[in-house]
Amino acid sequence: MCGMTVVLGTDPASIVRAAACLRQGGLVAFPTETVYGLGVHAMDVTAVHRLFAAKGRPAHDPLIVHVSNLDQAAVLTTGMPPVASALANAFWPGPLTMVLPRHGAVPREVTAGLETVAVRVPAHPVARALLEAAGIPIAAPSANLFSRPSPTTAAHVLEDLRGRIDMVIDGGPTSVGVESTVLDLTSTPPRVLRPGGVSVERLRALLPHLEIFGASVASGEAARSPGLLSQHYSPRTPMALYSGTPDATRLAIVRRIHQATADGLTVGLLATREQIAALGPLSVPVVDLGSEQDADAVARRLYAAIRELDAANLDLILAQQVAHTQGLWQAVADRLTRAATERVAIPDP
Ligand code: AMP
Ligand code: MG
Repeated sequence: MCGMTVVLGTDPASIVRAAACLRQGGLVAFPTETVYGLGVHAMDVTAVHRLFAAKGRPAHDPLIVHVSNLDQAAVLTTGMPPVASALANAFWPGPLTMVLPRHGAVPREVTAGLETVAVRVPAHPVARALLEAAGIPIAAPSANLFSRPSPTTAAHVLEDLRGRIDMVIDGGPTSVGVESTVLDLTSTPPRVLRPGGVSVERLRALLPHLEIFGASVASGEAARSPGLLSQHYSPRTPMALYSGTPDATRLAIVRRIHQATADGLTVGLLATREQIAALGPLSVPVVDLGSEQDADAVARRLYAAIRELDAANLDLILAQQVAHTQGLWQAVADRLTRAATERVAIPDP
């Protein structure tokens, strides 16, 4: 079926066409408010296998099942804890994924053999229209090649998956820009497995005992939530991430630029507007993540910025870790950490 990837608009006829393709087992990328998803009929095991192959995704990495509402989510699980409906009221539709006990009707291929299933009701109008038109649960991981930065535009999807999927619906850039928060409701107390579009602070209002799964998990033990693989979302170019006090990291980055340039390497820098201003003029390509005053804007731009520097075909990307840890900054810091191939912690002077 694949070979040519059709690019569709968001008009009603395109939605109907994409929905029909999904019902027949096709692979359709579509915008959600977080990142572009690569959708497939969640109950069609053959189609699910094709999806894993198209992404080059390992079979141990489970998929999130997207549904239209709480009632459809309930069909996929054997037990909805009372707090799930409170969470759904507060955060659905939106960037919260709940991990619940798997119903036998959900293929094991979707959940990577786990006895739990991850479900979410997306907020993006195109995603909602597609779910309505298809009338099926849609399993959808991010529409990128495995381990690459997630796609926030249709162009990113095509960069990775052109010729490997049937269709992509171009709905423009996504508004949140980082993936959903994955919340495990099958553990006591509930745990955040992956920080994302709904902040931990907002979840704590409903779940005061909420735990956060260890931020840096060795690749092997991450089966519970492969979004937590320590190496993920990465550019092809090696990326060194500097963290520490702003003054100390700046000094270290300037030194590294000089050293790498002297070694004949081409280097680029990824940092916030404030960090770039403090560094002063540099002789290397610089990509601005946005302002430290605006976590939403930085999250929205993060993956495009990483892809932009990657496209420059440099030998090395240097990045400065964001200074804040609250709200959406937690997801941004998490993705930068996982995108990095080298992590440099500069000790306090
Ligand atoms: P992606 O949409 O590509 O970001 O991938 C979906 C992510 O959701 C996975 O990598 C996991 O982190 C998480 N996930 C999906 N299903 C489960 C599950 N049953 N238990 C825990 N985490 C899950
Ligand atoms: Mg992904």
